[in-house]
Amino acid sequence: MKQEQWIDRLRTEWDREQRTRCIDVYPSVGGLFRDAHREWLNLSSNDYLNLARHPDVIAASEAALHAYGAGATASRLVTGTLPPHEQLEHALAEHKGYPTAVLFGSGYMTNAGTIPALVGRGDAVFADRLVHASIIDAVTLSRARLYRFHHNEADHLDTLLKKHNGGGRRLVVTESVFSMDGDLAPLREIAEIAEQRNAMILIDEAHATGVFGPNGKGRIAELGLQEQINISMGTLSKGLAGYGGFAACSDRVRALLINRARTLIFTTALPPAVAGSALGALAVVEKEPGLGETLLRRADHFRNRLREAGLDTMRSESQIIPIRVGDNAAALSLSRRLRAEGILAVPIRPPTVPQGRARLRLSLTLAHTEEDLVRAADAIVTCARKEGRL
Ligand SMILES: *Cc1c(COP(=O)(O)O)cnc(C)c1O
Repeated sequence: MKQEQWIDRLRTEWDREQRTRCIDVYPSVGGLFRDAHREWLNLSSNDYLNLARHPDVIAASEAALHAYGAGATASRLVTGTLPPHEQLEHALAEHKGYPTAVLFGSGYMTNAGTIPALVGRGDAVFADRLVHASIIDAVTLSRARLYRFHHNEADHLDTLLKKHNGGGRRLVVTESVFSMDGDLAPLREIAEIAEQRNAMILIDEAHATGVFGPNGKGRIAELGLQEQINISMGTLSKGLAGYGGFAACSDRVRALLINRARTLIFTTALPPAVAGSALGALAVVEKEPGLGETLLRRADHFRNRLREAGLDTMRSESQIIPIRVGDNAAALSLSRRLRAEGILAVPIRPPTVPQGRARLRLSLTLAHTEEDLVRAADAIVTCARKEGRL
């Protein structure tokens, strides 16, 4: 249709910059799967603990499905809150070491609802430059002013907090494990500065949940910072292999969210089977304490192998390992070459990462054995050589 022609011009531009996106269909989830032709090593899955197909997780989901039906059929505040939702909120609060937790439809919706409930026009948010898009969108929705501090630089945060103290409420936001760089925020310093400067603080633990800390409780629990950090948000869709998001917080913040968070109030509650699967995943994580440690140890070995060969894995210290490439075409080309070897390593390009910082973002899962990872690292090094990256 004629009124849509502007989209073609946009696409031409994207094509020229090699950043047109498309959707591929995969035969299965998880770090390792087969299709009709071959076995694939998927280094682009967030199923960190290999729980998406875990029999206990599937059984817990099925039990909730059969007990309560396909959908919650109403919002949380109407008649959509069922026993699995309540149990899950209790389990998440206990897991994270907070008095309570509020369940949302996804991690994105958690940020999009929580941040605008805490701050509004005339207030200010201080966020790390590399925070996830859901946080940026949340700040836009809130109408608060956004100040971005240099990545992981607590001193710069302090400077900004000192400078911008115009009287409104102030909120500091960062991620405990960064989604695209795989590096760790200096949480203790950041929490201390927020406290000194009398600002609230929300930490996004999307990639730490299930992986870092005792029994995968996250980095806030690992460092014992629950008293200093107002809100620990997380997702059920990565380490916990399902779907949904949550904010672990005080009873006071819970009351605020229930009354104000629009992504909780104006949307249907999670399907019971989805809450059930998260309960199943949490039970596995509680029962098997060493899962995250094993994953992080394997990630160390894998990363060292890449680094020794001369690849730039940036400041990764987690199961997320970027390989810095630079320009979009080179990232695409390396990814294609690896695909031919049965390795899925999706290129990440702007606007997901800053201009000129295109990379392959690898994420390891417990589906990958030590041998798989040695093979993958060697294949990556060989392909990078053929591409002239080494
Ligand atoms: C994935 C992610 C989210 C969003 O979580 P979903 O449950 O997938 O919506 C939020 N924050 C960060 C840092 C993430 O990586």
